[in-house]
Amino acid sequence: MLVHGGAWAIPDDAAEAHLSGVRRALEAGYKVLTRGGSALDAVEVAVTMLEDDPTFDAGRGSFLTSDGRVQLDALLMDGGRMKAGGVACVERLRNPIQAARLVLEQSPHVYFVGTGAEEFARSHGMPLIDNAELVLDRERERLKNAKERQAAGLADATFSGLEDDKGPETAVAPATESPLGSSHDTVGAVALDVHGNLAAGTSTGGTLNKTPGRVGDSSLIGCGCYADNMSAAVSLTGWGEPIMKLVLGKWATDRVAAGSAPEFSAREAISYLHNRLGGHGGIILLGPDGRFGMAHNTPAMAWGLASEAGLETGLKI
Ligand code: ASP
Repeated sequence: MLVHGGAWAIPDDAAEAHLSGVRRALEAGYKVLTRGGSALDAVEVAVTMLEDDPTFDAGRGSFLTSDGRVQLDALLMDGGRMKAGGVACVERLRNPIQAARLVLEQSPHVYFVGTGAEEFARSHGMPLIDNAELVLDRERERLKNAKERQAAGLADATFSGLEDDKGPETAVAPATESPLGSSHDTVGAVALDVHGNLAAGTSTGGTLNKTPGRVGDSSLIGCGCYADNMSAAVSLTGWGEPIMKLVLGKWATDRVAAGSAPEFSAREAISYLHNRLGGHGGIILLGPDGRFGMAHNTPAMAWGLASEAGLETGLKI
């Protein structure tokens, strides 16, 4: 099992919170697997813990929209049954990944947005909360600063978090959009269970100061999340728009299906993201044989890995 808690220039004073957050989530998810539980349950448990941890841009403590609300997106996918459930732009759910599970299990549809998603979750037993319960003062302050920078013409016109800020070497279509924020604290998990099934989940509050209604890559099938026993399970984080345009999750899993090692495919996917669109982010990728890959082109990515060999976390690959 692998988890991530975002890829960006994680500052030193936030390092410990990121590491302990991914560790706790991984321990909880991996326990499900060691007891013979499903990869899907393990991923749901781990992502729920990451959503509940205010360190991350998922669930409570997420970045705010330009009008000061939390709007959440999440996707869960079962690579054994080829079932998926996604929600986007939900404002009244504490754990969107659990709503995604309900969609996966109990709806003939795959994806719900906004109030329709909330109503679906409510009618299947999830409590609706006040959006204010998801909003932290820390994030109000962060939004205020972002707006001040925007007003001063400094609004993240360039992303300074890349290791290599010189720009794409072979860009065919250089980035024409600017990321709206330089931090990416989206969370995700991928798992392989004893039955040989893969699952993946990704959950996010999206990008800082996003326009209400914007949906990023995280909850879109094949973009920020994908799982298929015939290929691999993947979760991504980073600047969503380029990831979406490249359908990067599916791109990476297709390469594994074609015979590439996940370790190599993960690195290739991040190179492709950077070279083709000047994008930045991180990826965790797990094959049906247990081989895995992780990569990022941001200065750091919070990651965790659990296997029969033990449990490991880190901030760099
Ligand atoms: N990929 C997410 C989005 O664009 C942001 C992130 O990874 O933090 O919504």
